[in-house]
Amino acid sequence: MNYTFQVYIADGQEHFLHGPSGHVQHTQYPLSQTVLEWVELNVKQIRDITERLQTDLHNLLTERTERLEEPIVEGLALLNSYHPYFAYVRLEWAERLKQARQQSCKDVEKLLPAEELEQIPAILEMTQQQLRTLWHEVLDVDVSGGSIQDKLRKLYTESSSNSLCFAFQPLQLRYALIEEGIFTEVLEVRNIFNISDFFVRECLRRELRFRICKNCGRYFALSRNKNAEYCERPFAIPAKTCKEIGALNQWERKKSDSPALKAYTREYKRRFAWIRYGRTTEEAFYHWAELAKLNRDACLRGEITLEAFLAWLKLDT
Ligand SMILES: [Zn+2]
Repeated sequence: MNYTFQVYIADGQEHFLHGPSGHVQHTQYPLSQTVLEWVELNVKQIRDITERLQTDLHNLLTERTERLEEPIVEGLALLNSYHPYFAYVRLEWAERLKQARQQSCKDVEKLLPAEELEQIPAILEMTQQQLRTLWHEVLDVDVSGGSIQDKLRKLYTESSSNSLCFAFQPLQLRYALIEEGIFTEVLEVRNIFNISDFFVRECLRRELRFRICKNCGRYFALSRNKNAEYCERPFAIPAKTCKEIGALNQWERKKSDSPALKAYTREYKRRFAWIRYGRTTEEAFYHWAELAKLNRDACLRGEITLEAFLAWLKLDT
């Protein structure tokens, strides 16, 4: 094999060593991040790409010209852009294409099995459903039912359908010294679905807890703050994380609940009506409103007391 695809966990991070010989890259993510993204992946988009890859593969096998490898290489790169796990498929198939070229005609169909690509979307879809169930039934901090082990036992013994339970598979692990200077279990990936399997076990073993973010509706891992309601993923534009949006919403809510703001709004409406009755001019009103806003904000920031602000509002200026 002329490439590396290894996965391990160190310092609470997922580590990926991936690339052709001589160009191995090291990428890392917080533990559980890639699994959650795997579950959220749009299967339809993946199916579109794998279907096109099968057609391209068919063309290559029929015509056997090197030029027809190009769309396959591009398709694999596109697949990889959707999720880091697809780097495995990309490397493995690049290797197979090279071998197929070297042995020209012999056994090429066996070397490039289109069924393997065809199966990916269906297995992905099933894995997603099973992992969603596992997350909800076992890892969701807001779903009661005892410890992780209790919930796990319950799911796997009492579940009405086996197809709902995530099916753990045998993995090829090696206990080895890693770059970080420690010995740990390193996964030798033999199948793309090995990777989520490897990380899910670790989430369970470490008893990680997850919650659905109140802003984006996606699961996130709880770290130090067990009461966190928002994740820290970037959300929308301008780039703000859900946590920042959450804090902003809370501040807005608190602000609109505040007696200072309520009193300001009441007084604003009352004085605005005065314009119609000729008791004040538009100009005088807007001048007052400007000052009132400054005082209101000073009060919200705690620079003047509520009593002082309410007293000021009553002044007939
Ligand atoms: Zn979020």
